[in-house]
Amino acid sequence: MIPVLGVSGAQVAVLGLGRSGLATAKALRAGGAEAVCWDDNPEARAAAEDSGFCCRDLRKAGAFDGVASLIVSPGIPHLYPAPHAVVRAALTAGVPVDNDIGLFFRSFAAQEWDSFDTIPQVVAVTGSNGKSTTAALIAHILGHVGRPVQLAGNIGRGVLDIDPAIDSEVVVLELSSYQTELARSLTPDVAVFTNLSPDHLDRHGGLGGYFAAKRRLFAEGGPDRAVIGIDEAEGLYLAGQLSEGPGDDRVIQISVEDKLTGPGWHVFARKGFLSEYRKTRQVGSIDLRKVAGLPGAHNHQNACAAYAVCRSLGLAPRVIEAAFHSYPGLPHRSQIVADQGGVTYVNDSKATNVDSAAKALSAFKRIRWICGGLEKEGGLDGLKGATGAVAKAYVIGREAAGFALGLDVEAEICTSMAVAVKRAMAEAETGDTVLLAPAAASFDQYDNFEQRGDDFTAEVHKGLA
Ligand code: ADP
Repeated sequence: MIPVLGVSGAQVAVLGLGRSGLATAKALRAGGAEAVCWDDNPEARAAAEDSGFCCRDLRKAGAFDGVASLIVSPGIPHLYPAPHAVVRAALTAGVPVDNDIGLFFRSFAAQEWDSFDTIPQVVAVTGSNGKSTTAALIAHILGHVGRPVQLAGNIGRGVLDIDPAIDSEVVVLELSSYQTELARSLTPDVAVFTNLSPDHLDRHGGLGGYFAAKRRLFAEGGPDRAVIGIDEAEGLYLAGQLSEGPGDDRVIQISVEDKLTGPGWHVFARKGFLSEYRKTRQVGSIDLRKVAGLPGAHNHQNACAAYAVCRSLGLAPRVIEAAFHSYPGLPHRSQIVADQGGVTYVNDSKATNVDSAAKALSAFKRIRWICGGLEKEGGLDGLKGATGAVAKAYVIGREAAGFALGLDVEAEICTSMAVAVKRAMAEAETGDTVLLAPAAASFDQYDNFEQRGDDFTAEVHKGLA
């Protein structure tokens, strides 16, 4: 745990008592503060009280008298569509509103660092898609070379839950737009922006607000190095804003669309090859087509970002290449769960929307596609044109028949995962990929996307046994 600094003797309010809220309350207590907690859910309050925290209704008049600051969990709206009543009360009382990320950046550096040979560093990853994969890949590469590393934020442990850093350690944080928007301190050494596509627009008042929230990671703290995907206008604009000129190598530009060979520092992937250019010269090249754990252009974008971060931390291209090959992938994201009889079985249950499913479909050659579930707003039109590699769809979900009607490929209505896997397996030919990429939420049949992915994996193993 990282005890929060500068709060000794103060009362600090904590709103939201889930995993990160409780970790925050504990870190505040370790820093000598009195955590005053609230959650609208009585069960969450009871759990906090069981851990010895005092709960107080922070919506009541005068609740913020004597309170130094309010720490808000990421799931709770602080501005759009409307601030939570407790956030509004804090703002009205003139009490600063922050989150665990802000506390982390203020508390991370410790006195012991004076005796370290290499000062610990923080790498923070944000963007619409690929954050988890990029963050996990960076941690994997650093672990591969024996560098101490911890993964935290949305992935791994809560930021205040990690162990105090040791000599030369790197902490890799995955940060969502909710987190970057509210944190009052954001000072990573290296910051990554993977890409931008519309998401969570209700929480940010539209696309501009969403971009502005992510942009804070670069604008507030001024990281030493910024790794930026420039395939969308927003990334290109951000890279331009941070750069002093074409040769400024504090910004590393990433692309999976364009060959970038200018005077700055660039990493791009085209036709399955990653290339690094610095000062107009090529200094690195990796054949990503042979990297099983990172299939498809979307994963090549993640590979470029992770490569750039590790290069900026001083690792050699060959070392990074070797680590790519041992990257096991994250569960439920392009995860190879079996490879038997010439057929590969891939679990991409995290492809819960049309955009991410389209990316998954572009990553394999001949696909037996298991899809369906709770359809998202906007329908399935975004999949049109992305299904060229699909031999046949096997549709799951309570509304499988309706879902199948929206597809532009041959589709069999299977409804259950067991039937879908069985049918796909029976019809698969050598060289095929059986891919779960639902393009839909899982809640009609499962508690979450993880449970859906686990069911797919279990059915595959059952069928192959
Ligand atoms: P995040 O943490 O940003 O949600 P993940 O790494 O968990 O990202 O990937 C979520 C889904 O998005 C994956 O299932 C995959 O289909 C898709 N995806 C992964 N990387 C990218 C990328 N760079 N661009 C677009 N889609 C991606």
